[in-house]
Amino acid sequence: MRGLWLLLVLVAAAKADVRVFSGDQVIRVNAETEDQLQLLQALEAREEWEVDFWLDPVSTDLPIDIRVPYDSQTAVMEYLNANSIRYSVLISDLQELLDEEKVEMQKNQMKERMTKSFNFGAYHRLETIYSWMDTLVAQYPNLISKQEIGKSYENRPMYVLKFSTGGNKRPAIWIDTGIHSREWVSQATGVWTANKIATDYGTDSSLTSLLNNMDIYMLLLANPDGYAFTHTNDRMWRKTRSMNPGYSCRGVDPNRNWDAGFGGPGASRYPCSDSYHGPSAHSEIEVKNVVNLIKSHGNFKSFISVHAYSQLLMYPYGYSCRNVPHQPELDAVGTAAVQKLTSLYGTRYKVGSICNIIYQASGGSIDWSYNLGIKYSFAFELRDTGRYGFVLPANQIIPTASETWLALKHIMEYVADHPY
Ligand SMILES: [Zn+2]
Repeated sequence: MRGLWLLLVLVAAAKADVRVFSGDQVIRVNAETEDQLQLLQALEAREEWEVDFWLDPVSTDLPIDIRVPYDSQTAVMEYLNANSIRYSVLISDLQELLDEEKVEMQKNQMKERMTKSFNFGAYHRLETIYSWMDTLVAQYPNLISKQEIGKSYENRPMYVLKFSTGGNKRPAIWIDTGIHSREWVSQATGVWTANKIATDYGTDSSLTSLLNNMDIYMLLLANPDGYAFTHTNDRMWRKTRSMNPGYSCRGVDPNRNWDAGFGGPGASRYPCSDSYHGPSAHSEIEVKNVVNLIKSHGNFKSFISVHAYSQLLMYPYGYSCRNVPHQPELDAVGTAAVQKLTSLYGTRYKVGSICNIIYQASGGSIDWSYNLGIKYSFAFELRDTGRYGFVLPANQIIPTASETWLALKHIMEYVADHPY
C-alpha cells in the first residue's frame, strides 16, 4: 500500500516539474571560532555548490544548519574537513522526508473529501486553506469577516480574517503567519489558531472579554505566491516570487523588505540570495498591502509575526543591537508568555531581542511596526530546534499550535490590560 502511494506521488511529481532533493543532506555545524564562522559565510558565495542555509552562520553561540545538495556533498565535506570544521548530519536524505510528507497530505486529502471535514493536524494547499476560511466565516458570521487587503505579485488575493464583535476601529491585535513560505508549521498554526479563537469566543471568559473590547486580525498566508510554489514546485522556497530585472533568480525576502533599517546588516543585496532585501523598502506588494492596512487602520496595539524554526520569542530590534525603550517590559511579557507555552509540554523557548538572540537582521516586520508606535511587537520562531527543521511532521502541528496559543493568549491579555 505504501509503495503504491509512493508511486502515485512520484508520478504526480514528475508531471508537475517539482524540484527533488534526493540525497540532499541537512547538516549542523557549531562554529568554534570567528575564523570558522567566516569560512562558513564564504560557503554562501560559492554559488556552484548551491548550499541552502536553514540557520544562517552568524554566531559561534548558535547552531548553523545547512542543506547540502547531493551533487556538491563531496566538495562541501572536503571544504569543511580541510578547515577542521566539525559537523553532524540532521537529515540524511531530505527527499525521503518530503515523500512521506506528500503521501500523508494526499491520504489526508482523500479522507477530508470522504468525510467532508477539515483536519487541523494536516498541511494543506493554499486553495484548501482559502475555502476553509469561507467555511469558518460562514459558521461564525457575527464574529468573523474576511477582508481582501490586495493582491499578491502573481495576482492571488490576500485575505485577513477579522475577529470583531462591533465598534469602529477598536484597538486591534495583528497576527501574521507564513511570511516565509517554507515554514509550514507557521501557516498551519495560524489556521488552528483562527479556529480556536472562533470556538472559544463565548466560552473562554478572558478571550470573550478581550473580543468585547478589541479586534484581532489574522493574515494566515502572508506570502501566498511563495506558499503555492512550495506545494507545486519547490518545497524549500522562502521568498516572494517577484522578478528581479537582469537576473534569472526570483523573489525577495519579505522579512528584509520593511522600512526599518532597510538594506543594513543581515540582509543581502544579491537577488539570488535567500535574504535579498529587494530594490527598495516595501517593494514587495505583499508587504505593501500589510503596511497600507496597518497604517490606514491606525489603532493596532500589538503586531505578532509567526515563523519557524528555533523555538524563540523575540522583540525588536533586529536591525540594531541597542535596546528599545520598552525592552524591560517586552522582555517580561515575553518571558511570562513562554512560561505559559512551556507549561503544556515542556517545550523550551528562548526570549530576547532579535539582534541579541538570533542575529542582526534589517528590514524586519516587527521593527517596522514597533517604530510605527505599536509597542507590543513580537516574532515567534516555532518548533523545532532542528531535528526536522522546515519539514516538521504534521503530527506536531496541533501540539505546536496548542502550546503557542498559551503564549499568544498571554500577550493578547496583557495588551488588553495595558492600554496606551
Ligand atoms: Zn521565517
